[in-house]
Amino acid sequence: MFSGGIRLCRLFGTEIFLQPLWFVVLFIFALPPLLGGNIIGAVAVVLLLGCLYISVIGHEFAHIFAGRYFGVQTPKIVINFFGGAAMMERIPFGLPEAIIGMVGPLFSYAVGMIIMLPFFLGVPHNNLVLEFIYNVGYVNLLLGLFNTLPIFPMDGGRILRGVLFYFNNKIVRSTKIAMIVGFITLPFAFITLIPINMFSIVIMGLLVWMCWGEWKQVQMIYRDDMEDPNLVRPDQVAYYAMVVSLYGPGSKQANDARTMYSNIEFDKLADQTDAEWQASSPAEKLKTQALAVQYLLEKHDPEALSQLQDLLGKDLLGKNKQ
Ligand SMILES: [Zn+2]
Repeated sequence: MFSGGIRLCRLFGTEIFLQPLWFVVLFIFALPPLLGGNIIGAVAVVLLLGCLYISVIGHEFAHIFAGRYFGVQTPKIVINFFGGAAMMERIPFGLPEAIIGMVGPLFSYAVGMIIMLPFFLGVPHNNLVLEFIYNVGYVNLLLGLFNTLPIFPMDGGRILRGVLFYFNNKIVRSTKIAMIVGFITLPFAFITLIPINMFSIVIMGLLVWMCWGEWKQVQMIYRDDMEDPNLVRPDQVAYYAMVVSLYGPGSKQANDARTMYSNIEFDKLADQTDAEWQASSPAEKLKTQALAVQYLLEKHDPEALSQLQDLLGKDLLGKNKQ
């Protein structure tokens, strides 16, 4: 639901997309002053939201540049109706995750402080332009504060998980703790910081949903007794080979698997798998496909089987009958 959108532009090698729901939010906020006949007020709201989303893009690029420092690329950013999301290829666990999570809010605090400094020093914001600038600063501080809250998978929750993993080296446990802390923090944050209305309830629900999704994914891919979850696991490569044999290199399913497991080591092995697949004869291809289907059908773990079926798409068996 956050993946699609209208392509805005390409900036520093990252595509920026805008989710269409964003316009609905624009409309909701601009409507009350408009109905009251306050055209200037409506224009100010639209401009302020524009500045908010420019601030959000700046915030996301702070994450992106920190990610690149740790060797993680970010092909795109999606501006959704409650902020933005940098779609990183993968999350490096531990201190890199904490640092990547930290730089976004720090950027927002810095921008907010720079804009607000003259006002803190006594410059009055008594006309429309100064009031507007004041609000842009205020919005950036709020953006920093909101993202610092330890609500996984927001930045604060990622900082918490990164630090926990740094100390205990257990990614499933660290994610679980970050999730629980987030679920406890969430209602308090919304009671104290944000007025409860339909909009905030929807955002709260979305955060819970995103948290749950990421938790399920971590549970599925990693175990706490892994030596280093940042490294690739052999069964991830096996899984990728299976997907390639059934759907082909470059298929949606293969690309999804690449996105899910991507790191330097996995990417290398996946490229190798693609090359091997392309070089193999039709008879070899058929054999690999048969093994992949057999693997799915014979796996004596119904839960894992249903997870694999979910990953591959429900049409798997239908496709192979043809
Ligand atoms: Zn952020």
